[in-house]
Amino acid sequence: MSRNAGASEAPQPPTDESSERTPMSGPNTNYDPVEVAALDPAQIDAAVEQALAAAAAAGSLEELKAVRTAHQGEKSALALANREIAALPPSAKAEAGKRVGQARGRVAQAFAARQGELEVERDERILVEERVDVTVPALRRRPGARHPIELTAQRLVDAFVGMGWEVAEGPELESEWLNFDALNLGPDHPARQMQDTFFLDPVDSGLVLRTQTSPVQIRTMLDQEPPIYVVAPGKVFRTDDLDATHTPVFHQIECLAIDKGLTMAHLRGALDAFVRIMFGEETRTRVRANYFPFTEPSMETDFLCFACHGAETWGTAEQCRTCGGSGWIELGGSGMVNRKVLRTCGIDPDIYSGFAFGLGIERALMLRHGVQGMHDMVEGDLRFSQQFGMGA
Ligand SMILES: [Zn+2]
Repeated sequence: MSRNAGASEAPQPPTDESSERTPMSGPNTNYDPVEVAALDPAQIDAAVEQALAAAAAAGSLEELKAVRTAHQGEKSALALANREIAALPPSAKAEAGKRVGQARGRVAQAFAARQGELEVERDERILVEERVDVTVPALRRRPGARHPIELTAQRLVDAFVGMGWEVAEGPELESEWLNFDALNLGPDHPARQMQDTFFLDPVDSGLVLRTQTSPVQIRTMLDQEPPIYVVAPGKVFRTDDLDATHTPVFHQIECLAIDKGLTMAHLRGALDAFVRIMFGEETRTRVRANYFPFTEPSMETDFLCFACHGAETWGTAEQCRTCGGSGWIELGGSGMVNRKVLRTCGIDPDIYSGFAFGLGIERALMLRHGVQGMHDMVEGDLRFSQQFGMGA
């Protein structure tokens, strides 16, 4: 603080409100010996000591600012003394001016020095308090991923919906009649035996955890008038233990078409479309005779191996691991809907015909992505789902 306001101003005697002030440049005629007591050397030294002590005692920049006004402000003892110099006789001005000037200089220096120290302390404190350790690993939340079984089912459903088919769904807890009888699985059929099916207590409740998605087809035929084109994805249950190729809960997708004049040729066309969506444009299907109670005639469908493209490598050094060397991969069962089943559902088999086919989604996923074991699919490890991303 080098400000020296009022140094050239003479202290003014008290005047009443309306009186004129003495011009600043005029001679000092109102010298009052009482007021110059502030110029006493001992008092000046004392004021300096107090100021230095106050500066040293200030523990923060805020405290320093608070005490600074009292020791350097316009109403401080030293500022008052400085103003009184003007009132001294000329012979005394020089010495008093020097003494007061040096005193004010020491105080200003002390405050400036203390301010410097406190600023350094503050900066160091900020560096510690606001320190950011850029080497700490970031807290990163892994994005979720839809399960590949769900993705695969959706991919197939989307393709059939794109061809005008509708999605049909049904309950997982199903009546025995819909799960077996209506599908031409009589009471003596092996699939009804206890080792395959989860029956609900009591056993004669007539309820099971559905063993296939086919009861959805029965429900659809009972509810709707033909033409019917539905795709039915869903969870099914069997009393299998979990191992590399079996799981007690798995997924099927079934397609059912009921219309006038549908033939095996339409079935073949739908199967070809199905496998092309799943395994690429290059593939095609072949069918072999089989037996399923729900369909007549029934077929087992194979499709051309997408890995070796049908090369017959069985027994050679290059035997294809995907198809085992035959060049073909088994897809699942299919056939024309049994006339008996149509009649059960109130559909006249002399007017309408239909076809149905289905497959296990887990098996399709294993084939398409080379998933080695069923455990990966059911254990819920996010790392398994994430490698398929959102677009598998
Ligand atoms: Zn192959």
